Amino acid sequence: MGHKYDKNFHFDNAKVLLKNDDLQSIRYACLELRYFIEAHVYEKLFAETEVLPKAVIETWQPNKAIKFLAMFDDLADKDLVVSLSSNDGKDLTKIEYNNLSIKELNKLYNSLGSYLHLPMPKKISTYTIKKKKVVDILDKLERVTKGNLIIVNAKYEKFSCEACHLDIIFTRKYVEENDSIRCQNDQCGIEHGIRVNENSVEFGSKYIFSCAVCDENVSIFHSHIEDLYSFQCDECKTQYQFELTLRGIPEQKA
Ligand SMILES: [Zn+2]
Ligand SMILES: [Zn+2]
Repeated sequence: MGHKYDKNFHFDNAKVLLKNDDLQSIRYACLELRYFIEAHVYEKLFAETEVLPKAVIETWQPNKAIKFLAMFDDLADKDLVVSLSSNDGKDLTKIEYNNLSIKELNKLYNSLGSYLHLPMPKKISTYTIKKKKVVDILDKLERVTKGNLIIVNAKYEKFSCEACHLDIIFTRKYVEENDSIRCQNDQCGIEHGIRVNENSVEFGSKYIFSCAVCDENVSIFHSHIEDLYSFQCDECKTQYQFELTLRGIPEQKA
């Protein structure tokens, strides 16, 4: 039922194609190796679709998806090993998952991509793809064909978006390394500031002030603030508008 990613199918295709020396075969091998990298990343994302931020799942470029995922999960681009041992400490079995680091993935994916275009007119008469370069990439990727997918769920937590009320997913790692988080609902995208306390995290997306006319609290989203943005006080309907002022402050002479 349904489709599955089969990265080794693409790897084997590339390997067969690289037995030939013609440009066409080498170019198709590059395409198969790109599919290989995509399948490697997508099979991992596919196994975690339930917990991952939607924005990660919907990023089709594997290098961007993994980079995004790594903001939440330290293990996103790491090799993993799980050892099972018996009570007396004997190693029973070891499961390994070989991965590509983001840096490596980016480099290889882009190099392969550069071979998928037609040469520019200036270079058409001499154009060739050096087979050795592609074989080197194949060799580098070979280790990733071995082992089994291991999923270690990062501890995803969530809070409710102050604008659309859908869940926004975060991890401890994310909030410790970032000042703000964007609502992962594409239709919303409201930015929430992050404040990390000792035992808790707070998120806030609003700027609150008291209305000059009726004294009630008025709140607006930080992400909406820009020159000429206008809104009204919910209570007394007074209209407000932001105006950007540029003020030069002369240096104080001591
Ligand atoms: Zn939202
Ligand atoms: Zn008011």
